[in-house]
Amino acid sequence: MSKELTTVPNEPKISSDQAYDCIVLGFGGVGSQALRHAAQQGWKTLGIDQHGPAHDRGSSHGQSRNIRQSYTADPRYLPLLQRAYAMWDELNKRHRTSPDIKELLTQCGALQIGKPDSEIMQRILAAAEKYDVKIEQFSAEQVMQRLPIFKLTDEFVGVFEPTAGFLRVEICVAAAIKQAVKAGAELKSGLRVDRWESQDDGTILVTTDQESFTTKRLIVAAGAWSEKLLPGVDLKMQVLRKQQTWFQIDRVDQKLVNSFPCFAVEDASGDRFYGVPEIDSLGMKVCKRTGGQPLDSADHLNHDLDDAELEQVESFMGDFLNFGRSRLVHHTGCMYSQTADGDFVIDRHPENPNVTFAAGLSGHGFKFAPVLGKYLVDLLQGSDDAEFEFLKLR
Ligand SMILES: Cc1cc2nc3c(=O)[nH]c(=O)nc-3n(C[C@H](O)[C@H](O)[C@H](O)COP(=O)(O)OP(=O)(O)OC[C@H]3O[C@@H](n4cnc5c(N)ncnc54)[C@H](O)[C@@H]3O)c2cc1C
Repeated sequence: MSKELTTVPNEPKISSDQAYDCIVLGFGGVGSQALRHAAQQGWKTLGIDQHGPAHDRGSSHGQSRNIRQSYTADPRYLPLLQRAYAMWDELNKRHRTSPDIKELLTQCGALQIGKPDSEIMQRILAAAEKYDVKIEQFSAEQVMQRLPIFKLTDEFVGVFEPTAGFLRVEICVAAAIKQAVKAGAELKSGLRVDRWESQDDGTILVTTDQESFTTKRLIVAAGAWSEKLLPGVDLKMQVLRKQQTWFQIDRVDQKLVNSFPCFAVEDASGDRFYGVPEIDSLGMKVCKRTGGQPLDSADHLNHDLDDAELEQVESFMGDFLNFGRSRLVHHTGCMYSQTADGDFVIDRHPENPNVTFAAGLSGHGFKFAPVLGKYLVDLLQGSDDAEFEFLKLR
């Protein structure tokens, strides 16, 4: 009897070279880091992504991601953030093998502006005090003396954190993937995982639109697609489309080369906006942090210009920044995977301890990516860490 006739239709064909110690589903922000740590264990590791490395269809694109320690979310993120700084530094040393290679993390400082009695300012100051984060506090007038591009009324104050800054997001993802491949990881781009299931022999079958694989361990780092790929996990996650916009502004002091910092502002109505200095001539990035358009599916992300969001950003710029003319030069859509409380969820799968996942990064998770990626691997090795307890499935 020929081999073909004994094959059951639709039964996945798996040869031993498609059997892995660990598969990482999604090699975006978190998955790229998990891939690296998994491969560094000496595991036969495969990364699968429906798009290519460092693509613009998920949540890890748009030139920069801010990083700072005077944090507005739960202060329990702080110890993780301090580890993240060290891990980005370690990755940077491996990545930046010559001075003409751009650094992953630029510590240009960050200025946060708000009303002194606002919840956000109170949280920033409390976090800075508790974790001994170096900050400087300024009145509106002092901010404008130091950085004349700002136009503030007396009701606002500024908190400057000199060691804050930004990460070059796509370059960070590419750098982590490069280290993963160096450590032996295989990559499959352009394969969409349809499902995974636990098998009787303890392995996991991962089925894609093209081929299937088996693995002893699975890490799901699927970003805005997580709900579909985590059956049995109730994430209550909302996918929000967010717009990133860059502007050419007719003054030079907003450039990184002129020591302009990142900034974040909460206006009088509670809306929040942020900015990144002009890096690499693309223009100054100014975006709205709050709000966003709910998407039915992460597959529906588009890069069309949302005029309403642009108008809000331009109105913010008119109210808070001094400049003659500005011109929108670039824009892109991106996605927040928003949980109800804004906290990430990172844990073992409730039905299979050999599956770990990180999801719901809620618009503030990129800076933690190396820490989350490592923890996903540690959990698979049976090693837990109390500092992640508040991010476990609830
Ligand atoms: C506009 C914006 C601004 C932000 N600003 C900041 C900031 O300043 N600081 C900060 O720390 N964070 C920030 N964030 C949040 C941060 O960027 C994200 O939380 C983080 O990048 C998400 O990483 P991820 O790995 O979860 O998702 P992604 O990077 O999107 O990775 C998920 C991957 O899974 C793949 N995938 C999904 N489903 C499948 C499937 N079925 N088969 C194969 N592959 C699949 C996807 O293709 C994708 O590559 C921001 C986010 C946005 C959108």
